[in-house]
Amino acid sequence: MSRIAYVNGRYLPRSDAAVHIEDRGYQFADGVYEVCEVRGGRLIDERRHMERLLRSLGELRIPLPMPLSALSIVMHEVVRRNGVRNGIVYLQITRGVARRDHAFPPAGTKPAVVVTANRIDPEKNEKLAADGVAVITLPDNRWDRVDIKSIALLPNVLAKQQAREQGAREAWFVARDGTVTEGSSSNAWIVTRDNEVVTRQADHAILRGITRTVLLDVLKSQNLKLSERPFTVEEAQAAREAFITSASQVVMPVVRIDGRPVGNGAPGLLATALRRDFHRFAEES
Ligand code: PMP
Repeated sequence: MSRIAYVNGRYLPRSDAAVHIEDRGYQFADGVYEVCEVRGGRLIDERRHMERLLRSLGELRIPLPMPLSALSIVMHEVVRRNGVRNGIVYLQITRGVARRDHAFPPAGTKPAVVVTANRIDPEKNEKLAADGVAVITLPDNRWDRVDIKSIALLPNVLAKQQAREQGAREAWFVARDGTVTEGSSSNAWIVTRDNEVVTRQADHAILRGITRTVLLDVLKSQNLKLSERPFTVEEAQAAREAFITSASQVVMPVVRIDGRPVGNGAPGLLATALRRDFHRFAEES
């Protein structure tokens, strides 16, 4: 099946899909994005992802180029045309095409929309989850509005590359005060020796992950001891369990942090259970 991308109103073969060289996304990273999990051909938590999209657009004063209902049709159509059963759908909206100038382009400049879909092999992910993944830690050198899901991801790119080069799956960013903010493309969690489930509070220092939000609901419904607070690298290394969450990986157990084993060095019981049960609590569309 040939791969198809949606670009500014048209469904095109991937090889022909392109954006203008003066797209502000290309020149300034002036845009936002969303990634939804696709499972069994359906979108997971689309409603919450679209709410976050509206917030990101609002913070950057980029107008919504088409109604959410139309955007939803496009995302489903791209998934369908690519025959994606399991994977992700990617949506990007930039401030559009205009002569290069840092300040906003003239009112009425149409935001540019790109939608793609990619398969992820569920077995590969399950194998990763069964083994657990390693993370490294790095200084958080990002700007102070990472709650906006902007496409400006250079620190995240460099962090992930460094993780890969050190044989790890993810890099956790660490704030000046020694506390973990989040991963380069995931939220960070620990379960302490007292069975307290901890993830950083959602302020401007982290992205309010949709997987994180759903998981908090799950944990509340199960009466688990829960704290939204910062934790240090040392606290994480001494924890019973650690894990990361994102739309593409759902709940992924962390078994090593900077080379030190977490707990007994195997995926934690809670992380494994949450991974298994997550989709009972998520919305499908
Ligand atoms: N933090 C960052 C920096 C991310 O890029 C992501 C993945 N988009 C997340 C957290 C997790 O968010 P979500 O659960 O919505 O995928």
